[in-house]
Amino acid sequence: MFKLYCFILCTFLLFSVADLNAQNIEKTKERIEILASPEFGGRGYVNYGGDLAAVFIAEQMEIAGLKHFGESYFQEFKYDVNTFPNKINLKLHNSTMIPGTDFLIGAASPTVKSKYQIFLPDSLLLNDTVKFLAELVKTDYKEKAFVIDYAQTQNIDIKKFYINIMRYNRWFGCIVELIPEELMWSVSTKVETYPVVKIKRESFDKKAKTIKVNLKSEYVKDYEARNVIGYVEGEKEEFIVFTAHYDHLGRMGKDVYIPGAQDNASGTAFVLDLADYYSKNKPEYSIAFMLFFGEEAGLLGSSYYVMNPLFELSKIKAVVNLDMVGTGDDGITIVNGAAEDYKEIWNLFDKINNENEFFTEIKARGESANSDHYPFHLMGVKAIFIYSMGGKTYYHNPKDKPETLTYTGYNQLFGLLTKFVEEYE
Ligand SMILES: [Zn+2]
Repeated sequence: MFKLYCFILCTFLLFSVADLNAQNIEKTKERIEILASPEFGGRGYVNYGGDLAAVFIAEQMEIAGLKHFGESYFQEFKYDVNTFPNKINLKLHNSTMIPGTDFLIGAASPTVKSKYQIFLPDSLLLNDTVKFLAELVKTDYKEKAFVIDYAQTQNIDIKKFYINIMRYNRWFGCIVELIPEELMWSVSTKVETYPVVKIKRESFDKKAKTIKVNLKSEYVKDYEARNVIGYVEGEKEEFIVFTAHYDHLGRMGKDVYIPGAQDNASGTAFVLDLADYYSKNKPEYSIAFMLFFGEEAGLLGSSYYVMNPLFELSKIKAVVNLDMVGTGDDGITIVNGAAEDYKEIWNLFDKINNENEFFTEIKARGESANSDHYPFHLMGVKAIFIYSMGGKTYYHNPKDKPETLTYTGYNQLFGLLTKFVEEYE
């Protein structure tokens, strides 16, 4: 009986120790659900979505017992941003289009309430783009909506012509872009003089003669954004830094929000899980956890940080940025893994991965300005960016929901990162 009691006690202790020392995938899933919930509204600029996320993250840091550098976990900064807090109506001919499903509004679109004549360029016109341009200058097209359909042609010159119209449009009252695959939204720090409407190609009736756009955008000057930053003190004064952006695209009108489960509730929750872990397992290097805002608006939070660091950048041994890490069915990619001067870091990741058989494949990519590691890299701080591969996820789309995440690489990535921290010199 005593033996049995000992066995149960030991097993219990073993499990609780294991619990203390490992990743917590259930907690991560919970956090992703919260961050991607409608209340958080896509962690953007409408209904305090971004603020709610900042407060939630700070609370999690406090519960974990992380220290902060200043008086709080927040680092504030400001930028201008175009937002869409109100209902958006779009009518193609007489049929009402469904926001988020049939269409999205270009992020730089201004307030408009107008009806436009559909202008479908015919192939004759397009075959002679010079003639077409001459025509443009002569005629007033302000009441017309120019329809761009990249999939309509294989001709690279016509595609270029379309891109130039998109970029330099001063002629048409409205631009309609037909999207052959999934719709993609973005954030803009500027506001244009004309609206852009992105319509799913299959939802667009080519016989329609008119399009009615009714939208109100609000250009917010000096939006108050916050990075959320905490740390665990290690034996050394030097830092390893885990980063992820917690902002996303927010809300497009009353009916649509972009949950951003993969992009980047997944990375945010991952960093919080690492924070939990290191608050219970004192590391050799000090470890900072930086959750940035404004990544989607142009790496704004991380750029602000490197210009206004909370401790000397030279104390950072390495930055590991996690952005879109909720799958892993096909392994992971390490951006900067193949860049000059990253041999040592790459070799260590590769060695740890092989020794532990975490992933069947880890890919190395060269330099890229595609996430928050980049401003650090530019400042000469060693910084890599890891994303997971495989699974079916949706990029910058209302379908980027928690249920699309497979977490297939979660435990492996957690093992890889904690071993990296242990072994990195
Ligand atoms: Zn992202």
